[in-house]
Amino acid sequence: MKFGGTSVGDVAAFERVCGIVANQLDRKPVVVTSAMTKVTDALLAAFEMARRDRLEDAVASLEPHFERHVEITEAFFPSDAENVFHNELRLARQEIKDLLTRAARRSLPLQMLKDAIVSYGEQLSSRLLAEALKSKGIRARTVDSRRLIVTDDEFGAAQPIIDETNELVKIELTPLIEDGEVPVLGGFIAANRGGETTTLGRGGSDYSAAIVAAALGAAELQIWTDVTGVMTCDPRVCSDAATVPVLSYEEAAELAYFGAKVLHPKTIKPAVDSAIPVRVCNTSEPELTGTMVLADSGEVPNKIKSIAHKSNISILRITSARMLGAYGFMSAVFQVFDRHRTVIDVISTSEVSVALTLDKPDNIDKVVEDLSRIGEVEVEGGYAVICVVGEGLRASTGLAAKIFNTISDVHVELVSHGASAVNLTFVVRESDAAAVIGKLHKAFFSEKVNAKSESCDLTK
Ligand code: ASP
Ligand code: MG
Repeated sequence: MKFGGTSVGDVAAFERVCGIVANQLDRKPVVVTSAMTKVTDALLAAFEMARRDRLEDAVASLEPHFERHVEITEAFFPSDAENVFHNELRLARQEIKDLLTRAARRSLPLQMLKDAIVSYGEQLSSRLLAEALKSKGIRARTVDSRRLIVTDDEFGAAQPIIDETNELVKIELTPLIEDGEVPVLGGFIAANRGGETTTLGRGGSDYSAAIVAAALGAAELQIWTDVTGVMTCDPRVCSDAATVPVLSYEEAAELAYFGAKVLHPKTIKPAVDSAIPVRVCNTSEPELTGTMVLADSGEVPNKIKSIAHKSNISILRITSARMLGAYGFMSAVFQVFDRHRTVIDVISTSEVSVALTLDKPDNIDKVVEDLSRIGEVEVEGGYAVICVVGEGLRASTGLAAKIFNTISDVHVELVSHGASAVNLTFVVRESDAAAVIGKLHKAFFSEKVNAKSESCDLTK
């Protein structure tokens, strides 16, 4: 059971988590938690201040966040004598201050110090959560993830060394679980072979949880967050958007990229590879089942699971008549994007031209300049990508026709279909996006849809 930052954001959230864990004790859970919400950002900001020689500001900036931890302890342990966390926090404060001082003096490699500092978010939240669970009579025990998850030396985005990690997870956790204890681990944090603290990259707690689930051969990985799973579309666009009950891993991966940022596909891969179902649930609505992600979800009758979108998209078109029949055109085009490290989202090609979409066109001027040597280039902003996802989309006859018939009054700028078996992607003007999503949602998911096309701001 992995709890995200908002799920451990305040006293009420901790209470809910205790209830959720208590309800599943017979399933022998292992708990993985993120840092309390905003704490990771605060620690990173403090690190930046310290290395810019604002050590005092850095230390002071963390106080309100330590205070938030204290509030939790006060709610769970009314008497000071019982409050073992006070001491932990005092030590952590001192250690963080030492590390910030080192960052100011640059007395250790900065990337290493940064990970050491930022790891306190999860170190503290996991200790706090274990204490909160204990106060409810649950036999919880903090286990330091840095003893279990072994990574390479890539501070800030470390890669786990899976064989060694699997061994350690089993050795450390199995006896506790068998003994009826609930291990509580901080997500995101790990250590290299030399024992130095590393982190798995932002949002890495899901990854930690998936690694642990895979190592233990868990029956299920539960990702507890602040939304009820993956939705049929953005609920700000359609008021009757509903939770998708089951998704395949491939569908979840396509959706994650286009807007439905509930799960990062990389982070749940260890669980999916071990055929462990991943369930995304809402801490505020624990009675709902959320979305289940399986290695293979099978086809639903109408084949479509969800409609995702992404706004603020630019279309770039490059045409080169002299490339007709010659090879090397694509390669030349892609080399330019590679050189400028620019990510392409959707692509569509003809014999002499390529159209593609760009999300954050930071280097767009340089890209255009280089592409102009290959052909004529046009760039236009103000578009939205609509991504219809569902197992069986490529294989079923007439589905593309139904999609485009539903929106026959809308101008479609670019279409990409067939690369993935589970997705059909097209691009429309941003001003048409809400209406397009509303119509598709109505056609594929319900009759009484209420498209809030005017009131909603898709750029958020
Ligand atoms: N606390 C870390 C972050 O904010 C990891 C996580 O929440 O998954 O990125
Ligand atoms: Mg997260």
